[in-house]
Amino acid sequence: MNISVIGTGYVGLVTGTCFAEMGNDVICVDIDEQKIGKLRRGELPIFEPGLEVFFERNRREKRLHFTTELAAAVKETDIIFLALPTPPDEDGSADLSYVLGVASEIGKLLKNDPARSYKIVVNKSTVPVGTADKVCAMIDASGLQAGVDFDVVSNPEFLREGVAVEDFMKPERVVVGTSSERAAEMMTLLYEPFVRQGNPIMVMDERSSEMTKYAANAFLATKITFMNEIANLCERVGANVDQIRRGIGSDSRIGKHFLYAGIGFGGSCFPKDVQALAQTSEDHGYQFRILRSVLEVNDSQRGLLVEKVKDYFGGSLEGRRIALWGLAFKPNTDDVREAPSHVIIRALLEEGADVAAFDPEAVETTRALLGNDLSYAEDIYDAVTNADALVIATEWNEFRRPDFAKVKSLLKQPLIFDGRNLYETDRMAELGFEYISIGRPRLSLSHDSRVAGNGADGHEKRM
Ligand code: NAD
Repeated sequence: MNISVIGTGYVGLVTGTCFAEMGNDVICVDIDEQKIGKLRRGELPIFEPGLEVFFERNRREKRLHFTTELAAAVKETDIIFLALPTPPDEDGSADLSYVLGVASEIGKLLKNDPARSYKIVVNKSTVPVGTADKVCAMIDASGLQAGVDFDVVSNPEFLREGVAVEDFMKPERVVVGTSSERAAEMMTLLYEPFVRQGNPIMVMDERSSEMTKYAANAFLATKITFMNEIANLCERVGANVDQIRRGIGSDSRIGKHFLYAGIGFGGSCFPKDVQALAQTSEDHGYQFRILRSVLEVNDSQRGLLVEKVKDYFGGSLEGRRIALWGLAFKPNTDDVREAPSHVIIRALLEEGADVAAFDPEAVETTRALLGNDLSYAEDIYDAVTNADALVIATEWNEFRRPDFAKVKSLLKQPLIFDGRNLYETDRMAELGFEYISIGRPRLSLSHDSRVAGNGADGHEKRM
């Protein structure tokens, strides 16, 4: 099939590359000339595991092309995907200007195409309920007829950054929102190779499809937030959130995923999608109270670790050097949009601390936003050298088993604030660290010898 993807960001680039990998001819379009220039030279603008191999193969085999020319891409393709930004507007609702602007341009291009053939315009961006109708109206406005000249389809994307290629190639489900049988058939044909193991392609109406994406993200954000609140309570009652996670995760009605307590959710999707759904709800006269609480709790959760650091140092961080491991909003990506690490860094700097940060992939993306207000370390050990404490903000695998003896010798004092609960509390006490994490008992250094070996110290000092 001939496909164009308008917007070559995280979603557009993965979408285009994976469709090409299945043998389709794909043209990716973006207005960012620098990005398109890079892609044409064979350079990937993002870090995403597994993307490079597909990208190189499909460029080499001439199934994957990049351009800034919307007109040529629209003309030559039957299915046009929109993978455009939908950032939050001032009131938190999704800004549809990118999507509707491109829809209007597509309408004009289709209208002026002498060899006018049927096209499908597929919306992959996360958009509020009713957007398919708006996109349709934009294209209709050019004098084209929906159902004859074109159809608009909602096809939300569920990929997770860090495993985006895997998610796209083997989706747990594909949601297609359309009332057109012709469009549903073409979409099914396009996606069948991706669900050969039997995962469903669910065809539904446009509005339900659009709502499905928001409901999925809002539910996951709520699940994380619920666990963060359980963690906060654990700290007050002397329970261990890790045990609670295991205890409830084994219940199949709850499930094991998204139960890890930490420093709140971030990234380019959850915060904006929860806000947008809450706003849609209010626009329709309904107060979605859980969502407002989720946003509020998440905000305070992101400030929690800095509060702990401040408390430890008696309320002032002036002149303290803090090492920070992890800048990306999650592991295996260089994406730092809405990263909790950035909230922490800004707060630490505001409190007068110096920050030395390390991340395996997200240094350049951080530098683009925070500049040189902090220093960037060469590796995890460089970061902790002469630091008063280590703060962990992202759960990269390489942080899981560092040389603790080295870390200890390089830090001014053996003190770790872990926002991702990477280590066992009793082991850290055994190793001689003051280890402060989220929702778990804090074992005091003075109890090292008693804790060693049994892991269940009766003299725990609670956080
Ligand atoms: P992104 O910012 O990485 O990419 C968007 C791209 O669109 C940019 O490269 C930008 O230059 C380009 N663009 C802007 N205006 C354009 C125009 N007029 N013509 C052509 N290109 C244009 O965004 P993203 O993370 O890929 O997200 C895109 C959409 O997908 C959003 O609605 C997002 O909510 C949704 N989504 C994102 C993820 C994710 O993990 N990133 C997952 C699922 C859904």
